[in-house]
Amino acid sequence: MVYIIIPVIFLVIIFMLMYLYAGPFFKGMPVLVYHKVSSTKTPDFLTVSNKNMREQLAYINRKGYNTIFISDMIDYIEKGTPLPPKPLMITFDDGFRDNYSDLYPLLKEYNCKANIFIVAGFVQTPDNLGPRAEGEFMTLEEAKTVCKDHIQFGLHTMYHRRYDRMTLEEIDEDMRVSKKRLDDLGIPYQPCFAYSFAVYLKNDPVKQKAMFGILKKHGVRYAFKTGDRLNKMPMRNINRLLLNRSTISGTYSLFKFKMTLLGFIRIVQRFERIMKGHPAN
Ligand SMILES: [Zn+2]
Repeated sequence: MVYIIIPVIFLVIIFMLMYLYAGPFFKGMPVLVYHKVSSTKTPDFLTVSNKNMREQLAYINRKGYNTIFISDMIDYIEKGTPLPPKPLMITFDDGFRDNYSDLYPLLKEYNCKANIFIVAGFVQTPDNLGPRAEGEFMTLEEAKTVCKDHIQFGLHTMYHRRYDRMTLEEIDEDMRVSKKRLDDLGIPYQPCFAYSFAVYLKNDPVKQKAMFGILKKHGVRYAFKTGDRLNKMPMRNINRLLLNRSTISGTYSLFKFKMTLLGFIRIVQRFERIMKGHPAN
């Protein structure tokens, strides 16, 4: 008898976990977060190798996913313009130089779209190379080149500061100057923001509400956090300022990439921790 009960209990637990962690399975839109693509650097949490990026783009094409722009999502939500089948959003944060040198050619080759949440103050201009080392981030010319096709921009603060360590006045000013710098540089962007360090003030509802007010005041109608969940379609009863994204670490195998697309990565990681003997974490 025990030989039947134990597997049954095990299966029930698995299905409960699947329900909890992959609720939007089959009807969620994945939005992936990357940072860097490199053929020379060792892959790490922020850096995906060119080889893996190719493998992932080939996979999404083969499986019939259609990459979309932020504007496609907005038109879908606001005007009801249909999305292509199996919509998928690829996003890159910060605006690193390799997004031009490595990512952009791959997007053209695989005919995919991506969206870059660009740190306005890091865009390299001839007269002002910004506070970061020259060569780390895209130049103005490169940023203007990539957004002609295959790439759209969203907002990602002025200097990548954390909003939980700033006052509301500072957040307001940050939003104003980051938009102004992109406007002055002539870089087009969507009314969409990604919280830097994925900080969206979840433990401070009062400040969070005020921050939402600031975003709206500056015309920002959409914002992304992270959390490795899919966005439940048809995206009607959702908080447009707390949209979900799933991180693609440079250390992920293709299996983990597939699990992320299906909304199963959290359950995979939970099992990994259980197998390592740290179930509480
Ligand atoms: Zn960032």
